[in-house]
Amino acid sequence: GPSPVKVTVTGAAGQIGYALLFRIASGAMLGPDTPVRLSLLEITPALKAAEGTAMELDDCAFPLLAGIDITDDARSAFDGTSVALLVGARPRTAGMERGDLLEANGGIFKPQGEAINAGAADDVRILVVGNPANTNALIARTHAPDVPADRWTAMMRLDHNRALTQVARRLDAPVADITRMTVWGNHSATQYPDVSNARVAGTPVRDRVDQEWLESTFIPTVAKRGAAIIDARGASSAASAANAAIDHVHDWVLGTRDGDWVSAGIVSDGSYGIPEGLVAGFPVTSSGGSFQVVQGLEIDDFSRRRIDASVAELADEQAAIRSLGLI
Ligand code: NDP
Repeated sequence: GPSPVKVTVTGAAGQIGYALLFRIASGAMLGPDTPVRLSLLEITPALKAAEGTAMELDDCAFPLLAGIDITDDARSAFDGTSVALLVGARPRTAGMERGDLLEANGGIFKPQGEAINAGAADDVRILVVGNPANTNALIARTHAPDVPADRWTAMMRLDHNRALTQVARRLDAPVADITRMTVWGNHSATQYPDVSNARVAGTPVRDRVDQEWLESTFIPTVAKRGAAIIDARGASSAASAANAAIDHVHDWVLGTRDGDWVSAGIVSDGSYGIPEGLVAGFPVTSSGGSFQVVQGLEIDDFSRRRIDASVAELADEQAAIRSLGLI
């Protein structure tokens, strides 16, 4: 059969890692015909826990799982890798300033970018999940000058999936009937879930929801969903974040559905007035293994303001990492 694809997961012993690895190994991410070799990167104190997860992976006897390597060395973790899921990050803790958070993450994502640049496979595709995901992707990418810009992505897919479900509920429609959703900007409270072009069973969603619901219910519900999950579960979302990472890579590698698109944080080429080089959420399709921005969408005044506000936050984060010398 085909030779195994090396998939690297950082923060592999964490909550998202625990929900992610079993689905990768089962074939949910790269399809039922592609064997995978998992490479787990962890910080030294978490290596033992990563070994425990690897023992459970062994005990699943997944037919597609060709092997598991565990390391705290980024160079070896990313050597020859084709899919890199950067999940481990420094969480914001009480009293931490943004500069401290960015600096701590610079210490993680700069060496990881360098290691990817040094040794990843020519076809490497990277998804950054660890927050602040868009800006962490920008840091890593800056230190990987040989990796093409279109291989770097940040996760907007959980926001996208949350938005699909909120619209489906509101319209009492099956979630599979909702298409052409877009989440623009930063994966943060300023994100802009946009139904302007969304459809329900092929007809415009916009004809069936009013601006008041969009502004006072839909957008805040999607943007604050992470906090609502923490409040309910007493822990942050992990399975849904892992699911979104699976969806993102699946669609990137295997293609998006005809007539539909998804949201992904990609390196802006300047489309829709979003400054070139920022990693921002866009509507994208994928075919042949690369994302393309959906072009030609009309942006009304409300959408323009919301996109600009979230992009301004990304530009601020870019300025902050620049002044910290991280890029
Ligand atoms: P999780 O697995 O729950 O989360 C990991 C990262 O994903 C966090 O930055 C988190 O951001 C982010 N994230 C993105 N979207 C979501 C979402 N929708 N819901 C929740 N989280 C989201 O964290 P754990 O603390 O359980 O595990 C992290 C692991 O990473 C630890 O095992 C740690 O040792 C490891 N680590 C590894 C590093 C490395 O390999 N070099 C470096 C740093 C950490 P947020 O904080 O905003 O919730």
